[in-house]
Amino acid sequence: MTDTLDSAPAAAAGTPASVASVIRAPRGATRTAKSWGAEAAKRMLMNNLDPEVAERPDDLVVYGGTGRAARSWAAYEAIVRTLDELEPDETLLVQSGKPVGVFRTHEWAPRVLIANSNLVGDWATWPEFRRLEDLGLTMYGQMTAGSWIYIGTQGILQGTYETFAAVARSLGRASTGSATGSGASTGSATGSGASTGSATGSTIPADDLRGTLTLTAGCGGMGGAQPLAVTMNGGAVLIVDVDRTRLDRRVAHGYLDEVADDLDAAVARVTAARDAGEALSVGVEGNAAEIFPELLARGIRIDIVTDQTSAHDPLSYLPIGTAVADWQAEAARDPEDFTRRARESMAAHVRAMVGFQDAGAAVFDYGNSIRREAELGGYDRAFSFPGFVPAYIRPLFAEGKGPFRWVALSGDPEDIAKTDRAVAELFPEDAALHRWLRKAGEQVHFEGLPARICWLGYQERHLAGLRFNEMVASGELSGPIVIGRDHLDAGSVASPYRETEAMADGSDAIADWPLLNALLNTASGASWVSIHHGGGVGIGRSIHAGQVCVADGTALAAEKLARVLVNDPGTGVMRHVDAGYDRAREVAAERGLTVPMW
Ligand code: NAD
Repeated sequence: MTDTLDSAPAAAAGTPASVASVIRAPRGATRTAKSWGAEAAKRMLMNNLDPEVAERPDDLVVYGGTGRAARSWAAYEAIVRTLDELEPDETLLVQSGKPVGVFRTHEWAPRVLIANSNLVGDWATWPEFRRLEDLGLTMYGQMTAGSWIYIGTQGILQGTYETFAAVARSLGRASTGSATGSGASTGSATGSGASTGSATGSTIPADDLRGTLTLTAGCGGMGGAQPLAVTMNGGAVLIVDVDRTRLDRRVAHGYLDEVADDLDAAVARVTAARDAGEALSVGVEGNAAEIFPELLARGIRIDIVTDQTSAHDPLSYLPIGTAVADWQAEAARDPEDFTRRARESMAAHVRAMVGFQDAGAAVFDYGNSIRREAELGGYDRAFSFPGFVPAYIRPLFAEGKGPFRWVALSGDPEDIAKTDRAVAELFPEDAALHRWLRKAGEQVHFEGLPARICWLGYQERHLAGLRFNEMVASGELSGPIVIGRDHLDAGSVASPYRETEAMADGSDAIADWPLLNALLNTASGASWVSIHHGGGVGIGRSIHAGQVCVADGTALAAEKLARVLVNDPGTGVMRHVDAGYDRAREVAAERGLTVPMW
């Protein structure tokens, strides 16, 4: 595999960025590892650090502020080497991005078990985490960075696209078809979200944000999906980012239409597009904590407001008064003062968001904990608007639906086109899915290995997995397919400011569920399984788990896929049955999930 590294990475933690290597996963159907499970883990680790995929590959940072794929370059090299040597009945253990042991297990066991960023409760704070990180003892794994199943900005695109479609429906904009209800008003932070409706009506037109203007901020690895998600729904959107290079990167990758020279030009472009009913995304360089209040003061009509700056980590949110060039140095010099200033800026940012809500806009927190940070910054109305999960996503979680994704290890985009067609054939009735697959095929630029995402639920995902496995076995596809998901899923996360906000039974902070999910996936035959802390919303605020499996065309892979891809989303249905969601009870009864002691 050394031919995939342009030069040998330097071998110490804290290696200067300039000496890090350009990494690209090997392609094709020939492996150097002894099993496809190990080969796939190795390629996906490398893919996470491909410059096309990672936001700051030189620092091993994949996305989400400081979400890393490995603790250091030395650790990265050791993981790659160990995976190449790993026997098909051995399991590698990875502790916060560092390989720590190889154990004899069996061929049904995962090839890799990963635990990232976990801290004991009373110690689970950013300052303590950073102290331990500085000692070289841990790393921040975010969700799919440290668990090696990030697929670039596409990974969040469909969820963002469906969220904006649900926002449009909540605004009463759907002109045909069934607006089956997202289950919560946009104005309540305390809605139980226990609706039995589906947030993806099957005949909603694709252009249901036409004539609206969305304002958001944060055009990074995940936030960069927002402009394309809005324009795919037909709307106009203005996105603010302090870092011009992030905006330019999204233009280059087809996620953003253009970057305006200044705020006046940006406003002129998006309001004209809104009034003409045109889809257009415009980026503008600036600090959201200044630009949001400025736009509110100007009285510009904005219909939808959200945000995806890296607010979960105050050191990854730029406060007013600091230049981008000084960001890292200032944060490192005095993290406490930087945190205080970032929170003050977030308070100004969120105060403006609440102002837009008071003026009639649909406003929601997009999963970055900005309300809590603004509250810590002294703003007491921060929780006036809801998180996106109780507002729009919970009904999908109750069906075990979540961000199912797959990657072609061949590197051949045609393999993804074939799998797209196969998924469409498997679910002929699902018009929303067909619309998504068509649009994704036309508009999504692959970053790194070709990949696809689509939200599938309980008793759906395994159908796709088994079909892919058949296609690999028959030679229809030119290499194995890796199948995984985000940790943001129905049964794999406890995160009271995001996925489990406002659970019907008040169980928001109960973290047994993601641990059970990880244990079950390990027992079911996943190729690698991970348990993380702090992803999405920051240290102290979430526990979550991931699984990845591999369709290599063998009968054994089919057996494993049939279990993992049923059981994994099944934990989502189970979790929502337990919390009292009627739709989850119906799904369990209809699709044969055994949930004792109802
Ligand atoms: P990222 O670090 O790649 O990007 C964050 C962006 O915010 C950067 O481009 C940065 O320049 C910009 N930024 C920082 N401070 C700013 C300010 N004051 N004004 C304007 N721009 C500013 O992170 P990401 O991967 O895009 O994730 C963004 C956030 O969304 C994180 O908090 C992450 O945890 C969360 N997230 C949400 C979901 C979801 O499903 N909703 C999924 C993944 C991540």
